[in-house]
Amino acid sequence: MKYLSRLKPNQLKDKICLLRLDLNIEDEKKDNFRLQSILPTIKFLTNRGAKVIILSHRGRPQKTKNLKLKTKNCSLKPYVKILSQLLKKPVRFIKNLNMPNILTSDVNILENLRFSVGEERNDKQFAKKLASLGDFYVNDAFAVCHRENASVAVITQFLPSYAGLLLEKEIKNLDSVMKGFKRPLIVILGGAKVSDKIGLINNFLGKADYFLIGGAIANTFFASQGLPVGDSLYEPNISNILTSDVDRLILPVDLVIHQRKILDIGPETIKNYQKIIKKAKTLIWNGPMGMFEDKRFVKGTTAIAAAILKNKKAKIIIGGGETTAALLKDKNYKLKTNVFVSTGGGAMLEYLAGKKLPGIEALKRLA
Ligand code: ADP
Ligand code: MG
Repeated sequence: MKYLSRLKPNQLKDKICLLRLDLNIEDEKKDNFRLQSILPTIKFLTNRGAKVIILSHRGRPQKTKNLKLKTKNCSLKPYVKILSQLLKKPVRFIKNLNMPNILTSDVNILENLRFSVGEERNDKQFAKKLASLGDFYVNDAFAVCHRENASVAVITQFLPSYAGLLLEKEIKNLDSVMKGFKRPLIVILGGAKVSDKIGLINNFLGKADYFLIGGAIANTFFASQGLPVGDSLYEPNISNILTSDVDRLILPVDLVIHQRKILDIGPETIKNYQKIIKKAKTLIWNGPMGMFEDKRFVKGTTAIAAAILKNKKAKIIIGGGETTAALLKDKNYKLKTNVFVSTGGGAMLEYLAGKKLPGIEALKRLA
């Protein structure tokens, strides 16, 4: 794989870069973490005299019955203002691919790629048309690397292609817990669904010293053991996940229950988990310990986050949309260099499951 970070200024000057970013951010005014994470690559390029055309999708524009595209809240136009403020530079909007290709600004944003059907079909002709806008391509959208879409996958057939600064950081950090990691390796798993995370569980079953389980995932584990879970959120049709390696899968010993629902881990469980977290040399955390959006059930998640961040020796990887939101809510958290917060979400889960991601494979094929 080729990395943007290795390119010399003279390889970038006066060139046009097609830069795939992830601007699929639900609340662009609040999610500062993901916005900040894309700025270094834009600056790297423009500081070296390249012009940038940002490619991204946003939301799921859908065809209505009369084949009109429902585009409400899907336009990338709001990012013109947001990015120009963050970059302190004018940013221009390119409404469609047929607009004349004269770039008057250093930074340009092409409208939502999913307004064209070719994007999600990984369509060659569409990718070729995109490629004709620039001199080279940079993928800095780790969060969409698991999608076989034109701007992520097939586009690398048409232009010299590189991994951006954020993608490089994601790959290096995630690789560091996949092999050559220090023990004990602790995986903390919570959140909504086991089925989203089963790949990660399977990949780490043979590697992790302990899995600490919380969130609705714990409910599914309880139910699979035949324990009653009342009206709790759980997945009924997942069986046999717990039958192997039970001694390394640690489940809550007490719970916060409200209206027949298990909604958080209890104080004894927090203590148990804190002890184990303290000893970790490598740690992966995905998924909140409870329904943290409700203040009454946030304690488990906050306590586990604090315990994790207290461990200054371990290599720590944290990821997942809600997990990151829960972590970054508390402004007092200062993330140390031993902590990496992934922007990956679903892509991170697939990467940690050991799967090959189309976006990364597409960059490798050309190396
Ligand atoms: P992430 O996005 O970090 O990977 P998930 O999407 O798997 O996390 O799960 C996050 C959601 O799980 C949160 O909205 C949270 O409210 C919910 N959740 C966690 N524990 C419970 C529980 N015990 N009951 C109901 N919902 C829960
Ligand atoms: Mg989620």
